[in-house]
Amino acid sequence: MEPDQLGVRGEACVDHSVERMKNEDARLIEAAQAVWGGFRLHEDFSAGTVGAAIRTAAGNIYTGICIDLACGLGFCAEAAAIAEMLKQRESHIAAVVAVGADGVLGAPCGRCREMIAQVDRRNLCCRVLLPNGKETTLAALLPDHWLEPGTPKQAVE
Ligand SMILES: [Zn+2]
Repeated sequence: MEPDQLGVRGEACVDHSVERMKNEDARLIEAAQAVWGGFRLHEDFSAGTVGAAIRTAAGNIYTGICIDLACGLGFCAEAAAIAEMLKQRESHIAAVVAVGADGVLGAPCGRCREMIAQVDRRNLCCRVLLPNGKETTLAALLPDHWLEPGTPKQAVE
C-alpha cells in the first residue's frame, strides 16, 4: 500500500470510488465558483479572491471566501469553509476544492493543510481536487504527518 493511502493510525483510507463520481466533483467545484470572485469594500480591504468548498463525509457542502486586509490580517477561504462546517458540528471532510486566480483550482496552502488535518485526523484521507481533473489526498500533501503514529517525530520520543 502506498504511504499516502494510509490514514489515521495507519488504517487504509476509505475507498473513494463512489466519491470520484464526476457529477459530485463538478457540484463541489460549482459551489466554490459560486462564492469566488474578488471584491473591495474599501481601498485596503478585499475578499473573495479565493473561494473554497468542502464536501463532508455526510455529503454536505460548505463554502468560504478569503479575506485580505491591508495590515496583513485575513484568512483563507478554506478556513472560512471549515468554520461553516464546524458550525454544523461536522468535521470529517471527504473532498475540498479551492478556486483562485482566474478561476483556476489550487491546492490549499500549508496552514490550511494543517487546519484540515487537525480539525479531524480522518481528513488526511480527504481528496483535494486540482486543475485539469487531477486530484491528490491531504496525506500526500502532508507526508509523514506529525499526527500520524509511526512518523519520525513520534519515533524519536
Ligand atoms: Zn490557506
